[in-house]
Amino acid sequence: MNNRGILFVLSGPSGSGKGTAIKELMGRRPLKLSVSATTRAPRPGEVDGVQYYFLSKEEFERRIADGEMLEYVNYCGNYYGTPKAPVEESLATGQDVLLEIEVTGAKNIRTLAPEATLLFVIPPSMKELRRRLEGRGTEDAATIERRLSVAKEELRQYGLYDYVVLNDTVESCADQIETIMEAQKRASRYM
Ligand code: 5GP
Repeated sequence: MNNRGILFVLSGPSGSGKGTAIKELMGRRPLKLSVSATTRAPRPGEVDGVQYYFLSKEEFERRIADGEMLEYVNYCGNYYGTPKAPVEESLATGQDVLLEIEVTGAKNIRTLAPEATLLFVIPPSMKELRRRLEGRGTEDAATIERRLSVAKEELRQYGLYDYVVLNDTVESCADQIETIMEAQKRASRYM
């Protein structure tokens, strides 16, 4: 009987709707969502310690140097990283943990924690991805173009993941993820 929590990693291009799907999922399953650290500026409505820990570049680099990050990347000019201690504590006490991170971070987790389950959320099309990014209204035109070109690169790397989930509607996307998580949870009991 294995009492350790499962480490789930969820990636998907910016605008794939993974954030909304995660919100839906959190109401359905006991799951600890890891709060990442970042050096990007908070968007309107974002609160320090809730969506992210918003850090200065210097503080982020100190934490890297002190080995406090499980993984980190430089994405679109900012650092993003997963604080190590809360993830390890949750897994050790049997809680499942979800990391919502981009592709390079997922690749690093694949090496660091090969037992992790990696899921990739894809949008129905590039056209729809653009529509969602523009509709969000939180990024300027140049940032949207940069995120779209990063998205194309990311979509090419879907083969790294254990599961690819289509985000057509939030409901069906959350349903698919929930089913995968439940199956993994039950399978892990046989380990
Ligand atoms: P955003 O700026 O839109 O909140 O996030 C940009 C990208 O960074 C998203 O793809 C998100 O999944 C990713 N991200 C957020 N936190 C982390 C993290 O801790 N590590 C890594 N590798 N990526 C992250």
